[in-house]
Amino acid sequence: MAFSLPDLPYAFDALEPHIDEQTMRIHHGKHHAAYVSKVNDAVKGTEHENKSIEDLLRGIDQVPDDIRTTVRNNGGGHANHSLFWQIMSPDGGGEPSGALGDEIDRVFGSFSDFRDQFKSAATGQFGSGWAWLGLDENGKLHAHSTPNQDSPLMQGHTPILGVDVWEHAYYLKYQNKRPDYVDAWWNVVNWREVEKRFEQARG
Ligand code: MN
Repeated sequence: MAFSLPDLPYAFDALEPHIDEQTMRIHHGKHHAAYVSKVNDAVKGTEHENKSIEDLLRGIDQVPDDIRTTVRNNGGGHANHSLFWQIMSPDGGGEPSGALGDEIDRVFGSFSDFRDQFKSAATGQFGSGWAWLGLDENGKLHAHSTPNQDSPLMQGHTPILGVDVWEHAYYLKYQNKRPDYVDAWWNVVNWREVEKRFEQARG
């Protein structure tokens, strides 16, 4: 099969109390697993089944019409969640340092200003979607949101941090209180991983 569900790099209950164990089990084992299964079914027997998920999404316009929407939604879901698990950690929280910390200060004014903008992107996304920090097509750091499972890779961007604001990511613990979930989520952000992705993306 083209793509597989990655293991979490920590236990299902490791992000408690900020993200609860039951949410993590369902989110990874049911939602993410379903995206993997559906994108695999879509690309099976095509030239696209041997591509990386990143190349598949960057080249979404080359995917045939009859499977493009399925690949967009489920391939996007696979890529987005694969990043999401990696940029969280039970040892997370705090602030970015090094080159990323400097660039956030330069672009957004301060880490606090960045958090405000990112939270606005997350809470302002109507319905399901994601908020992102990443490099745009010109290599400039920016915060933005995408609807559904649309991946920034499809826009020629490189995401380095993302928060899932689908209700399945928070409803069991936070119900309708998406802003409270985003506030708590900062406590599990793995800035060392985000810094690494920034440095790789910047080249
Ligand atoms: Mn999700």
